Amino acid sequence: MKYLRLLLLLILGVNLHAEQLYKWAVIGAGPAGIISIAQLLEHGVNDHDIVWIDPEFATGRLGKYYGNVPSNQKAYRFTSFLEKSTIFANFDSPAIQAIKACNQQQEHPLQLAVDALNDITNYLRTQVISMQTTVQALESEPDKLSNNWRLTINQPAQAKILAQKVILAVGAHPKTLNYQNITEIPLDLALDVTKLSTLVTTNDTVMVIGSAHSALLIVKYLHDFGV
Ligand SMILES: Cc1cc2nc3c(=O)[nH]c(=O)nc-3n(C[C@H](O)[C@H](O)[C@H](O)COP(=O)(O)OP(=O)(O)OC[C@H]3O[C@@H](n4cnc5c(N)ncnc54)[C@H](O)[C@@H]3O)c2cc1C
Repeated sequence: MKYLRLLLLLILGVNLHAEQLYKWAVIGAGPAGIISIAQLLEHGVNDHDIVWIDPEFATGRLGKYYGNVPSNQKAYRFTSFLEKSTIFANFDSPAIQAIKACNQQQEHPLQLAVDALNDITNYLRTQVISMQTTVQALESEPDKLSNNWRLTINQPAQAKILAQKVILAVGAHPKTLNYQNITEIPLDLALDVTKLSTLVTTNDTVMVIGSAHSALLIVKYLHDFGV
């Protein structure tokens, strides 16, 4: 009897601290995280084997900063991707209809895609297990035999979950350099034409470092303002 009680306590104790094990953890819900979830489902991974983690679920930097930026791709690329996907073929929403209704041979502001991706995110969150929190740490389990990853999340504080495989879709941040006595305009503000217009005057001298898509847009905006 004594041993039985001890065994019961041990089992309860183990369960109280049990860490949920998933086959897949996708960290980040920007465009890369969204596509990762869709790809896993398309490849037949069970929805309850996937955990998706992001503190915001708002389409990452695209959703937060780049809605006013003109897309560098024509609309048909987005709609043909949706139509070819078995996950999204039957999915519909006002934002999806809006992107299908616009001129497919033109580039549009990225907000059109952001609205559609927000709806897609909400839909995918009904399919898989999602947690609105930040991953603080990622470590391989000390028990080398299991080969699992242990994720420490913020909410609930310091909670841990286990995953056999992890997709890190946490994005990237603009770089800064070491300037002295120079006012920097952060890239995310410079890319928003309305915000940039409030940050520069025609008397300013502005240095743009870089020569790809972001820089070309910013140089064009500055030129249009008469800087
Ligand atoms: C000027 C410009 C024009 C562009 N035009 C286009 C275009 O026309 N078409 C196009 O497809 N792309 C375009 N892009 C690129 C697009 O913005 C990026 O490719 C895209 O945002 C990258 O997505 P991501 O998911 O990799 O990262 P992000 O958008 O940065 O998303 C990362 C996500 O991870 C989450 N996260 C980060 N750390 C953690 C953590 N520890 N725990 C949990 N979650 C975490 C964040 O909350 C965020 O939601 C453009 C970019 C620029 C700058």
